[in-house]
Amino acid sequence: GEPRIVEDKCIGCVKCVKVCPGNALEIFYTPEELAVLASLEKEAGQADDEVDEDERLRRETIAAWRGVWVFVEQTEGEPARVSWELMGAGAELAKSLGTELCALVIGENVEHLCRESFAYGAARAYLVDQPVFRHYRTEAYLEVCCSLIGKYKPEIVLMGATGMGRDLAGAVATRVKTGLTADCTGLDVDDRRNLRQTRPAFGGNIMATIMCDRFRPQMATVRPHVMQMPERKDGATGEIIRETCDIREADILTKVLEIIREKKGGVDIAGAEFIVSGGRGMMAKENFGMLQELADELGGVVGASRSAVDAGWMPHERQVGQTGKTVRPKIYIACGISGAIQHLVGMQDSDMVIAINRDKEAPIFQVATYGIVGDLFRVVPALTSQLRQLRQ
Ligand code: FAD
Repeated sequence: GEPRIVEDKCIGCVKCVKVCPGNALEIFYTPEELAVLASLEKEAGQADDEVDEDERLRRETIAAWRGVWVFVEQTEGEPARVSWELMGAGAELAKSLGTELCALVIGENVEHLCRESFAYGAARAYLVDQPVFRHYRTEAYLEVCCSLIGKYKPEIVLMGATGMGRDLAGAVATRVKTGLTADCTGLDVDDRRNLRQTRPAFGGNIMATIMCDRFRPQMATVRPHVMQMPERKDGATGEIIRETCDIREADILTKVLEIIREKKGGVDIAGAEFIVSGGRGMMAKENFGMLQELADELGGVVGASRSAVDAGWMPHERQVGQTGKTVRPKIYIACGISGAIQHLVGMQDSDMVIAINRDKEAPIFQVATYGIVGDLFRVVPALTSQLRQLRQ
């Protein structure tokens, strides 16, 4: 029904105005109420001097923090691609802030990752290379990260939203008493050197921009494939700053006994260049064979919306979207997918989106480069056969 104010309960505290995610509420005052508010504001003004002093102190403290850091995630010396994607985003931030992009490299025999960081845009790498850091363990990495952050005071620290990054970023932010925004989809800075961290909120219904303006460093994690991979510049050089940490093996409770790698052969939709995705409009599991044929012609893979996964037509690792994977292929073909915001956040940065849907009002068409209004059971086989003919 119509929204209404329960007048005998409302005390005019304006909390509802502040929390409304759509900025849809406004409160109007009578002239008497305005007079009361003006007198209250006058009283509050007397505390302005104190506020200014606080503000001055805050700015002075914040000014001591400089530099953008990217944590270079590695497993047995092999870097995670998301770290280089973050270098691309970090370089933009560093440029806007007039500061340096730095890599944080922790492990054993990992000096080569410093050179790799320079190739992806870092000007400096902080390197901690000791046997105790051979395998990722929260206690050890937390200790060394916090001590380096305390010593060098970076204003921004970025990590991949991977298993390791999510674990470490949360632990570090808690220890150094600062804020952390997880799974950001956009990063930039304002004119007060605050990091504007954008991510979906309220189940993806709005995009929220979150700031941590009173504490440093400002910390954010970003999922793989959200940021664009920067160009690699062979032969780029930078400065390596070697650090050590006196944490001993005996102090660490966790021991890594064996690393069992995920079996190869599974489909990685996150890294695919061509994705043909199916949604509820596919009607049945068997119909996904049709999408596989189209994907095979393109040299791509089959993805799915959550509805298709929930229906048991596709496994969860094929799900695209907020609770699935974020993808950035060259071409994303959405078949029988309506384009709910939770799906869009996972694929809208694809280079090209082709949507096939019989409902011309479907929201997927708003992010589509090419839209085909029609029955997918006719359009998809037609596309596949056209591609086959082109190939011959
Ligand atoms: P529908 O919305 O039912 O759309 C089916 C479409 O198929 C319709 O547009 C219809 O016109 C079209 N169609 C039907 N038959 C044909 C035909 N023969 N030819 C052509 N077109 C046809 N969703 C995700 O995808 N990924 C996520 O990660 C995700 N996370 C979520 C997280 C949260 C917290 C919540 C609340 C929801 C999430 N969802 C996610 C679900 C999301 O809100 C939608 O419900 C879902 O994406 C809808 O899937 P769909 O487009 O396949 O189905």
